[in-house]
Amino acid sequence: MRDEADTEDAARERDGRTSGRPVPFGASVHDPNALEAGYTAGHRAYEIGGIIVSMTAATWLCVRVASCPRLSGWWVPLAMLVGILTADFVSGFVHWAFDTWGSVDTPVFGRLAIRTFRHHHVDQKAITRHDFIETNGHNFGLSTILGVTGLLTVQSETATMVGTFVGMSLIAGIFFVALTSQVHKWAHMDHPPAVVAFLQRTRLVLSPEHHSLHHSAPYNRNYCITVGWMNGPLRAVRFFETLERVITAVTGWVPREDDIGKDAALATVEEPVSPPDVAAEVKGPTLP
Ligand SMILES: [Zn+2]
Ligand SMILES: [Zn+2]
Repeated sequence: MRDEADTEDAARERDGRTSGRPVPFGASVHDPNALEAGYTAGHRAYEIGGIIVSMTAATWLCVRVASCPRLSGWWVPLAMLVGILTADFVSGFVHWAFDTWGSVDTPVFGRLAIRTFRHHHVDQKAITRHDFIETNGHNFGLSTILGVTGLLTVQSETATMVGTFVGMSLIAGIFFVALTSQVHKWAHMDHPPAVVAFLQRTRLVLSPEHHSLHHSAPYNRNYCITVGWMNGPLRAVRFFETLERVITAVTGWVPREDDIGKDAALATVEEPVSPPDVAAEVKGPTLP
């Protein structure tokens, strides 16, 4: 009986399936089936919890902002834009961090987040087969940070125009952060809904063409995946390249080593950085 259990555990360890306790992924880090199998019941429970908590915080913040004395003005569209750009930046920063550093065996974040990013890079279509919770649970959870920030800073009774502006920006940010993985999923679908295809063509959400550059060598571009509008400015100021140089200088870590292998990662680091072709890579909203 014990031998049978041991054999089953060994099989789980070989193919990366978990049996309720941590199993090192080791060499299976690029095996899409092993990475997919890392999606456990516990992880799903965490995602459902994230959705419930984030929706509660967002609803609470909406009620509070709706009670603010100044709810309209020329600045409302600007507040929405700030929220969208904040969400796009957050999507890029989080995506860059988990693509570039650590591994699936990194404590806490390895199984919680990095596994998902590694899996997506070896099986881009897997996201199109995920249900609503598996697709969006993480980002709903992440949006809780913005919701709690709003609840701590916006007081409806004493809200000034600035307070209302911040509250509206955070609500837009919460909406677009929570929607990011869904938008990313649409960018990988062969046949997205017609209205989504229209939004993609007009660049009001991430387009498949724009996002395909992220999945092309040297795999260090276009991390922003909500609307993609921040990719051009961040690349123009070499935002992520500069962060990587600083982190490598301090720690000695090689960016993307775990994701694309040491040789390819070193080649990317040593490659002279070419001037960004912002116009070709990044376009803002356009007419269809
Ligand atoms: Zn990526
Ligand atoms: Zn993708």
